[in-house]
Amino acid sequence: MKYHQPLGGDEMPRFAGVATMMRLPSANSSAGLNACFVGMPLDIGTSNRAGARHGPREIRAESCLLRPFNLGTGAAPFESLQVADLGDIAVNTFSIVDSVDRIRIAYELLLKNDVIPLGIGGDHTVTYPVLQAIAKKHGPVALVHVDAHADVNDTMFGEKIAHGTTFRRAFDENLINPKLTYQIGLRGTGYSPDDFNWSRSKGFTVVTAEECWDRSLAPLMASIRAAIGTHKTYVTFDIDGLDPSVAPGTGTPEIGGLTGRQGLEIIRGCRGLNIVGADLVEVSPPYDLSGNTALLGANLLFELLCVLPGVKYHKS
Ligand code: MN
Ligand code: MN
Repeated sequence: MKYHQPLGGDEMPRFAGVATMMRLPSANSSAGLNACFVGMPLDIGTSNRAGARHGPREIRAESCLLRPFNLGTGAAPFESLQVADLGDIAVNTFSIVDSVDRIRIAYELLLKNDVIPLGIGGDHTVTYPVLQAIAKKHGPVALVHVDAHADVNDTMFGEKIAHGTTFRRAFDENLINPKLTYQIGLRGTGYSPDDFNWSRSKGFTVVTAEECWDRSLAPLMASIRAAIGTHKTYVTFDIDGLDPSVAPGTGTPEIGGLTGRQGLEIIRGCRGLNIVGADLVEVSPPYDLSGNTALLGANLLFELLCVLPGVKYHKS
């Protein structure tokens, strides 16, 4: 089996060439792939700063620096998985209702093949139609959700579909297993002391940012792995779960967030889970003047690829 390899720096300078994710081949369908990157350039679900529509393109641009081997963990995803970039889903930037339909339909189509999609946001609204398609194929999934926000509002400005209602809809529609839902990094200001209690009342596990401060998250992830076991699992990583000092380019930043290393610990701690899909959302390039947030997002997507089932590991 010959696996697609990211274009190397000796073949084409890293700053040049077509900006696919990790300089992988682009593909029109998921046929023959084990994993795929897919962009969802939607930001009309945002409640504050917009700009995440530019996330997929900037994350792809910054991903040009990524090399194929993970020196930190020993993962060599391109030695055992066929991976390509499926490009972007054509969202309707004039209609969020139509956009989520388009995302769900595109995911249902790509999931006709036995592939693990890695979504590139876009605001967190995109995870709702993705979970609809994932649950249609796999049933309600366990969820590892990194975020500053719980995203469990019933409505925002009267609307059922927005980036802050995603996991309320996922619960309402039985897309996730609430007893195996973990929200990590929640913090900030709210409307009432009970803001995170809706999640808890439904059986979600809430791990606030304060509970994460100044400690390794490896033990937390070990307990999450033990609880989830072999359940099919979706991982959704809102970049604002990390501190604005490392991820300033996002729409609703909150102080006191997780460190970049803790982000790595969470994703690396997902290794061994039966992951059926994942995404990285809420990178907003207009607020990302150094490009570091998109670079971080690209790296976190690579780390997500590295913990998918079937990835070959070398001794590190
Ligand atoms: Mn979110
Ligand atoms: Mn958030």
